Amino acid sequence: VEELKYVITSPELIPVVKPIEDKMEQFFSHMELKPKEGGFLISNERYVMYRASSMSIFLRKELEKIVGSGAEQAIYRFGKACGSADAKFFVEKLNLQSRFERIGAGPVHFAFGGYAVVQFLPETNITDDDECLFVYDHPNSYEADSYIQAKIECKHPVCQLNAGYSAGWVFGAEGLHLDAKEIACRAKGDAFCRFVLAPPKRLNERVKEIKEKYNLR
Ligand SMILES: [Zn+2]
Repeated sequence: VEELKYVITSPELIPVVKPIEDKMEQFFSHMELKPKEGGFLISNERYVMYRASSMSIFLRKELEKIVGSGAEQAIYRFGKACGSADAKFFVEKLNLQSRFERIGAGPVHFAFGGYAVVQFLPETNITDDDECLFVYDHPNSYEADSYIQAKIECKHPVCQLNAGYSAGWVFGAEGLHLDAKEIACRAKGDAFCRFVLAPPKRLNERVKEIKEKYNLR
């Protein structure tokens, strides 16, 4: 089996995700910078570029001034809205048919969008019921990287937009009502950024289970 280029996952998902990588490559191969018109188009879809550190460090700083500790939730919700809207767009644009194609396109778009690489861990178990669970790392998360590069010490995980984005994607792509929580983050000194995505009523329990399994505090 041919290896994937942009997602790290279990061998059985490789044949499903491979064609999506090709489709996404094609979508992102038509980039037009049109500064005379103030526009940036990818396959005729308008995108806007932000510097990663403006979108992570400075967005949070300003939100904290307005909503205090609610900033984390606000960033998470914004990420979730973006992920959901992007999923709906790409399901149609790339004509994604099966459930695994629709879900699998998320990590591929994530890589092309510059958010992070997605590396699925073996606990991931995609089902229709309350057993549904995703466990994954985000190597190279732009949010953690921004804080590390700025040498800002953090006590809590900072990748809330990325966390929200994945929850939003599975909802927009597949109608799954799940929420994500980051349980380890490079910005606070952990070796990786690790996430648990599960039905909201089981999220705390799942977080506890995965933290214990990987010996995370
Ligand atoms: Zn992180």
